[in-house]
Amino acid sequence: MPFSNLVKGFHVFQHKYFHENGIYQELTSKGQHPEALVIACCDSRNDPALLLQSKPGEIFVVRNVAAIVPPYQPDDHYHGTSAAIEFAIKGLKVKDIIVLGHAMCGGVQALAEKEKTAASHFEFLTQWISIGEKAREQVDQKHPGLPPDQRQRALEKEVIVASLNNLMTFPWIKEGVEQQRITLHGWYFDMMNGKLLDYNFASCVFEEFGNPAPEEAVLLHCHSHGDQS
Ligand SMILES: [Zn+2]
Repeated sequence: MPFSNLVKGFHVFQHKYFHENGIYQELTSKGQHPEALVIACCDSRNDPALLLQSKPGEIFVVRNVAAIVPPYQPDDHYHGTSAAIEFAIKGLKVKDIIVLGHAMCGGVQALAEKEKTAASHFEFLTQWISIGEKAREQVDQKHPGLPPDQRQRALEKEVIVASLNNLMTFPWIKEGVEQQRITLHGWYFDMMNGKLLDYNFASCVFEEFGNPAPEEAVLLHCHSHGDQS
């Protein structure tokens, strides 16, 4: 995409949202009131607003490599993802949290091939994706010998479940879920087949929306409401 196309894109956006309708008049005078927090991967093919066709102000989005939620660690380190989650919950009082992972995730591939990643020139990636190490162990223990493609698909989904579990380590999220003020969702964008899958907390499988049949017979580690054992 030539760089000038990005500026042209802004002009299209400007015409639609500033000249044709008054969406930003309302959003600037009344502030933002998004109902959902979406935690998504940085991948350029996985833009939540585009994928979900949401309007400005509807979803509060934090993106990072592999859509990972780190565990609750209130220390003096720089927790960008946790800060965004905190603002969405405590500041904006969102009701739904969606962890949106996707197929062919480079971040998950870096986790799947962590020895290769560790030996690379990346300075921050190895440490970041190590949050998913337990997910990797679980996939390899439960499904030893999977072909690389299938192993990666399973790991992409297991990392979503790990992030859901990590969300429950935040005390104010756990409390909100238990009091039914907050609902967690694990979504998986299958970009090879153009499908959106939803994690079923009861059966521990990802299912296509509107289609209750399991997408595949790979059972994942169940969401354990904060139990990290
Ligand atoms: Zn990704």
